[in-house]
Amino acid sequence: MADNNKRRIAVFGSTGSIGTQTLEVIEANPELFEVEILTAQTNDKLLIEQALKFHPNAVVIGDESKYDAVKTALLPTNIKVFAGENALEEVADFDTYDMMVAAIVGFAGLKPTLKAVEKGKAIALANKETLVVAGDIVMQLAVEKRVPIIPVDSEHSAIFQCLVGETRNKIEKIILTASGGPFLGKKPNFLVNVKRHHALQHPNWVMGAKITVDSATLMNKGLEMIEAKWLFNLSPDQIQVIIHPQSIIHSMVQFEDGSVKAQMGLPDMKLPIQYAMGFPHRIANKSPRIDFRKLSVLNFEEPDIKTFRNLSLASLALEKGGNLPCILNAANEIAVWAFLNNRIGFLDITAVVEKSMEKISFIEKPNLSDYFESDGEARNFAASLVKM
Ligand code: NAD
Ligand code: MG
Repeated sequence: MADNNKRRIAVFGSTGSIGTQTLEVIEANPELFEVEILTAQTNDKLLIEQALKFHPNAVVIGDESKYDAVKTALLPTNIKVFAGENALEEVADFDTYDMMVAAIVGFAGLKPTLKAVEKGKAIALANKETLVVAGDIVMQLAVEKRVPIIPVDSEHSAIFQCLVGETRNKIEKIILTASGGPFLGKKPNFLVNVKRHHALQHPNWVMGAKITVDSATLMNKGLEMIEAKWLFNLSPDQIQVIIHPQSIIHSMVQFEDGSVKAQMGLPDMKLPIQYAMGFPHRIANKSPRIDFRKLSVLNFEEPDIKTFRNLSLASLALEKGGNLPCILNAANEIAVWAFLNNRIGFLDITAVVEKSMEKISFIEKPNLSDYFESDGEARNFAASLVKM
């Protein structure tokens, strides 16, 4: 903590859905938080606007061709400007922040997050891909460095909240809730014709494009199963997925006495974001409350894993472990990108992931460089399938 007791926050991925909502939480709580670092990949305009508003110590623009624009705009300030991929790790290595909000999307978030853990910084983790790819290495390092990794993903935040006060009690299982996405109840004959704009309409949450497609294919829930395994040290048979279309129960924990704890709230990512940033304290806010008199039903149903086969692929990766989740993630990132660019169909996403998992060599106990190699190999192979 800084002398003035404000928590100094480094927002990695500040221009995204989670990043901008993180800044809204900071803006609403100026006595608790201040911004130390902001990073963005391509949106220089928004990054500049954010920097002028929040006065961080440093900003990073990933796209080097935008460096001059950012540098020029911030010339009248004393904000340090960096550019390029390596700069993310450089600023993650700064001493001057207390907590990283890891809100970059995809594999790109892994290196800077690992650097922050190595530096002993608290992590508010939105970037689930970091744990999907290298959860063993990240969690091991976090234990060694005594770094708290507090989930921002709403399901994992729910489980984390249910576990407060339960450190001595064994988890029997966790129940991850899934909204089911925009295509709940649909079959392959419908899904084969689905286009980008259909998949980008999520019923309950407004999010970045990649996670919105992942929610539509249920890969998001698959990634979340793997994320949960690492965060809460679970075996695959302790992780159950259930469809809950209203997104009111954000997830549940069942204990050995059969008691189940659930965490509820209206679907609003600012709640898990501010919970992670303020932990162990809850921060008062004026967001809308659930009115149980108006909430007539909460529904639950089994996921349709025959149609949404990504969930089976992710279960396989969860069970086999090694570099398989890393391969699944890399192939999925390429396939989702290709789908968003209208190069492949909705059902092809699963086919690309499945073929990549079959093709790339399995490594049972990978080290960090194995993960980077597997990621690269899986990306190249998946790209050859979508003819990029
Ligand atoms: P987004 O696409 O809206 O934002 C991504 C951010 O990362 C942007 O600031 C972008 O500039 C940056 N970025 C993108 N590619 C990058 C790269 N190669 N290198 C460095 N920075 C890069 O995504 P989002 O929806 O905010 O999701 C961020 C993360 O949070 C994802 O891992 C997602 O799964 C997770 N998450 C998001 C939500 C949500 O409601 N949006 C909920 C739960 C979890
Ligand atoms: Mg989630």
